[in-house]
Amino acid sequence: MNQQAVEIADNMKRILLIQTGKGKNYSNVEKYTALGTLIREYIGEKWVHTRKKYEEEKVKQVYYLSMEFLTGTFLKKNLDYLNIYEDTKEALESLHMSIEEIEQAELDQGLGNGGLGRLAAAFLDSLSSLSLPGYGCGIRYKNGLFKQEIVDGYQVEEPDNWLLNGNIWEYKRVDEVFEIYFGGKIEIYDHEESLHFSHIDYDVIKAVPYDVPIVGYRNNTVNTLRLWSTEENDKDLNIGEFNKGNYPEAYRRKGEIESITQFLYPSDEFESGRILRLKQEYFLVSASLQSIIAQYKKRNFPISWFHEYVAIHINDTHPALAIPELMRILMDKEGMEWEDAWYITVNTMAYTNHTIMREAMETWDYNLFKCLLPRICMIVEEINDRYTAELRGKEIENEKIEKMAIISHGRVRMMPLSIVGSHSINGVAKLHTEILKNKELKDFYEVFPNNFNNKTNGIVHRLWLLEANPNLSDFIEELIGSSFKKEPIELKKLLNFDTDEFVIERIVQIKHQNKEKLAKYILEETGIVVNPYSIFDVHIKRIHEYKRQLLNILHVMHLYNKLKDNPNLDMVPRTFIFSGKAATSYYNAKQIIKLICSVASVVNNDLTIKGKLKIVFLENYGIKLATQIIPAADVSEQISTTTKEASGTGNMKFMMNGAITIATLDGANVEIANEVGDNNIVIFGLKDFEVYDLYRTGNYHSYDLYHSDIEIRRVMDQLIDGTFHNHYENFQSLHDRLLRDNDDFFILKDFSSYKIAHEKIDNAYRNKVHWGRMSLNNIASSGVFSSDYTIREYAQYIWNIKSVKD
Ligand SMILES: *Cc1c(COP(=O)(O)O)cnc(C)c1O
Repeated sequence: MNQQAVEIADNMKRILLIQTGKGKNYSNVEKYTALGTLIREYIGEKWVHTRKKYEEEKVKQVYYLSMEFLTGTFLKKNLDYLNIYEDTKEALESLHMSIEEIEQAELDQGLGNGGLGRLAAAFLDSLSSLSLPGYGCGIRYKNGLFKQEIVDGYQVEEPDNWLLNGNIWEYKRVDEVFEIYFGGKIEIYDHEESLHFSHIDYDVIKAVPYDVPIVGYRNNTVNTLRLWSTEENDKDLNIGEFNKGNYPEAYRRKGEIESITQFLYPSDEFESGRILRLKQEYFLVSASLQSIIAQYKKRNFPISWFHEYVAIHINDTHPALAIPELMRILMDKEGMEWEDAWYITVNTMAYTNHTIMREAMETWDYNLFKCLLPRICMIVEEINDRYTAELRGKEIENEKIEKMAIISHGRVRMMPLSIVGSHSINGVAKLHTEILKNKELKDFYEVFPNNFNNKTNGIVHRLWLLEANPNLSDFIEELIGSSFKKEPIELKKLLNFDTDEFVIERIVQIKHQNKEKLAKYILEETGIVVNPYSIFDVHIKRIHEYKRQLLNILHVMHLYNKLKDNPNLDMVPRTFIFSGKAATSYYNAKQIIKLICSVASVVNNDLTIKGKLKIVFLENYGIKLATQIIPAADVSEQISTTTKEASGTGNMKFMMNGAITIATLDGANVEIANEVGDNNIVIFGLKDFEVYDLYRTGNYHSYDLYHSDIEIRRVMDQLIDGTFHNHYENFQSLHDRLLRDNDDFFILKDFSSYKIAHEKIDNAYRNKVHWGRMSLNNIASSGVFSSDYTIREYAQYIWNIKSVKD
């Protein structure tokens, strides 16, 4: 062992003794906690160094505000990024401990629903890895996204208890607590010829920060993710009521305070306008802004330079109240006039739009909003008055102004507020940004043309390639050296091996090994035997009608019908793998899960089809599971209704692991197709203009397809005729969505084109070398989708921040 490993082993022994007082028989949780404590020392040194650098060089800093950060686990990543993984592994072995077993003790920090939360975490990773001064601001939910269990084919939700064993990666900062005001009244008074606003009778909630260090990849940078929590104290317990035995009343106040940071709202692309959610959003925004201002003031710059040294980014409209909150602080606390405060605010704030789904647009009831946030409401009204006056000045007709207003029809709307209060509005893939400019936000684009721009999403290649697929990563390093680890665009060099059959054979082999491993996991988790020589066809993401898991499973039913008609059908065996959570309140999404499981139980147990078809639903989709599944995927299902998926990032992870994508020309699929070329991807389905034409003309009638296409008719009938369900459950609601409600998401419309796409996959897979070459091309072209490149663009064109030299 080298000196470092010896040191780690000694420290490990010492810390274990301090923390447990046992001397032997340590549990994995104890070992994990001790190892985390040990790593804190390495992190601490770099953290101090980073802060000092930022101070000395007086750099501009960005704050990324997000209601979600899906960071996953930290142990392995931190060891790897600090470049002490191998030494630690060796040190632990000398103590007869297994690093893999210890890693299993860490619970996922799952403070996000899906893509949006994962993107925020990816951006923090890239900021640190590029030595860029950037902070995350979020909420420390006591329960992250629910844990999903599948019971009899139904989704059952269990609370996610991620703090069960404590959290070794957080540092509570009791000296940086801020007060958040809810409710109350505003008194206005004249003083020295200007109006002053005084907030009285409010309810105070304390916000306590927990800092999580974000370690950069093998550099000297450690940035901070600051997660806010409420905290109640003894005064919040009503002793009088307690002594009377009235416990609900005694604990009411405590419960009210706790509830604000208790749960992550478990809905994706869907807002319900609940008051608790509004409280959460303002809690995040007010705590973060107060803390940002306090940090800024320590630097002794005049407040009028604020936007020159601070950039604030809002991840979707969820933190949009940062705009009026910054105005409030600049005016009420710093004594600025409206015009100056507004100039600084707009030049500080930038906004990313993540979705055009109507039901995801956040609006609040005006009266509720005013009651809960009286001062913020006044400021939003003033912003709205000035903005609509400006629109009238441009001679825009009233009807249009009504549509663009921040407050209208008794609702306060977060999207117009975000646009008006920011100097940059970006979409998350080229197609999505074009749709924003020319369609969904056209009116706004015409007023603020220079503010709109595109920043295509990205993924952390360190996680999805280096960590998740070490065999592939090592082989790539053998071929092209290690430079791709810091500069993933260099993966392009793999194209030099495009015709090298040995290399292609190895790539196919590595994929097969990963499939064997996943097959073993599937057997352990579900008891289903899958054939690792079959095509692993994978559809994993949130369950949503627009993501069209229903199209996939209807096609599987169709394949099953073909096999029943002809058991000797010549097809490459297929394993369809699904995973994903449905929002708690989303009935149809839950029915889709039930349908997948019902079809699986019939098909998997039918011996007459000779194992040519298997269907697996893996429960509790999350980062950990994704890193196990994606390296083993042959086919990546990215089949959203065109125009509906803003970007997608799952698609990029699969591509980087050499899966072939079956895709609609939606979101970032368009850019993936451009990078990899038409021969290395399978495209199907309606184009964006066709979708818009059908919506506009109303020329689509799903019943026509039901009547004219017997294959469609057969699977539709099977939804309700008992083929895949028993007497007390059928899939009438899904049937209704497709026929009675005329199939909003064009599932039947795209069915035949999807069928042909799958025939192409079947054909291509039969030629191993051909398939392996497609796979290699996908890996080679995936480098541009590293979030490092996305972040470089944000840094240069939106935030104007620069890397700090180590
Ligand atoms: C990447 C990722 C997502 C986003 O997947 P999409 O296919 O883009 O919807 C969601 N959840 C987790 C855990 C992820 O890692």
